[in-house]
Amino acid sequence: MARTDAIVLGAGIVGVATALHLAKRGLAVALIDRRGPGEETSYGNTGIIEGNTVFPPAFPRDFARLLDIAFKRAPEANYHLSFLPKVAPWLIAFRAASSPERLAETARVMRPLFRRAVAEHEELMAEADAAHLMRKTGWLKLYRTDRSFAATAREREIAGHFGIPIRVLDPEAVRTLEPALNPVFRHALDMEGATSISDPLALTRAYAARFSALGGVTLTGDARSLHRAGARWRVETAEGPVDADDAVVALGPWSPDVLAPLAIRLPMAVKRGYHRHFRPRGNASLARPVLDADNGYCLAPMQQGIRLTTGAEFADRDAAPTPVQLDRLMPAARELFPLGEPVETTPWMGSRPCFADSRPMIGPAPGQAGLWLCFGHAHWGLTLSAITGRLMADLVSKTAPVVDPAPYAAERFAR
Ligand SMILES: Cc1cc2nc3c(=O)[nH]c(=O)nc-3n(C[C@H](O)[C@H](O)[C@H](O)COP(=O)(O)OP(=O)(O)OC[C@H]3O[C@@H](n4cnc5c(N)ncnc54)[C@H](O)[C@@H]3O)c2cc1C
Repeated sequence: MARTDAIVLGAGIVGVATALHLAKRGLAVALIDRRGPGEETSYGNTGIIEGNTVFPPAFPRDFARLLDIAFKRAPEANYHLSFLPKVAPWLIAFRAASSPERLAETARVMRPLFRRAVAEHEELMAEADAAHLMRKTGWLKLYRTDRSFAATAREREIAGHFGIPIRVLDPEAVRTLEPALNPVFRHALDMEGATSISDPLALTRAYAARFSALGGVTLTGDARSLHRAGARWRVETAEGPVDADDAVVALGPWSPDVLAPLAIRLPMAVKRGYHRHFRPRGNASLARPVLDADNGYCLAPMQQGIRLTTGAEFADRDAAPTPVQLDRLMPAARELFPLGEPVETTPWMGSRPCFADSRPMIGPAPGQAGLWLCFGHAHWGLTLSAITGRLMADLVSKTAPVVDPAPYAAERFAR
């Protein structure tokens, strides 16, 4: 093929948005994946563009909750016992990053990305003719107890400080927004500034189509073939080898597969998650995603039906699926919303690529000129993909970065 300026490895929402931004700068870009765009983790998420995120999910501080998780009674989390020794250092770091001070620090360093998240998607969606996929209806967090709602006080205070719109609602006010929800909760937060997507796969495909329209080339290949070819990077593809000065690793949970052979080891873990679609009973519908905070699952209206998504499972990325959380939470979900028959016979599983400090990895690979790291977006890969793509394009094309990239660099783990 003709000369390539940059290779992007991985056509999930993060890689596709990055390839699109690079193509918009006039670079000749090859986007390489072993599957079609958006068919892995980026397929199955809850579809929320959570620009108003303040705190990331935190390690539980409540001892009773920890016991529930330990005894595998909690709907929001699960683990494989055999995996615990492997993930223990990550969990210890995650616990440390969950102190009130560290959470406030995370909120501060992540705000420049979250603040731009929705507007960056709006721009790309307009260009990709995909604006119809976005709902500007926010999302709802429901709290079944006064205690769980009270625990959001600090987060709401910090949100106010940042000017993030969050509306406190009672069950009656929620009924006017979502009449199909049973009032089994006592409090709600309306995350007004957020938006959501009715089909995350269609969004990734729309961005990929826009990338192609700008002259970008999408190829099938195994990213693990990445190696040096003189001063350039080379990847083997079905169309033959592709060389470029710059290569961006945007392989989400698979990024370590390519980096380990280059002796780049970063402390990333995965939080596996599941989804299943259900037909609503009768005329019941939802206009926005809803979180049942006390049970750690979401219900989101999607093209395929009502998508029920689970919280975290700590297990080896490649271990067989164990969707036990779905069984644990189904009674609560059916109590909240009239869910009918499941659409699929088996649940879908994906792996959120997560660093313990809840920040993504965006920046140069240490000691490897021309290699870039662009993964680890955890619970916000959809949300942050468009702004990440812009920032990565700034870095690769050596223009002034839209935000200070220092907090997201690999060097933070060298300290
Ligand atoms: C249940 C659940 C709910 C979620 N809800 C939300 C939400 O509401 N909002 C939000 O913002 N985020 C959400 N997320 C997180 C979000 O989905 C992820 O952060 C995001 O999809 C990660 O995108 P990615 O492009 O980094 O990875 P992926 O989408 O996994 O893309 C990686 C790509 O690399 C390719 N690949 C892997 N290995 C190779 C190889 N050897 N050779 C070639 N190609 C390879 C894969 O085929 C894949 O296409 C959720 C995640 C889960 C699991």
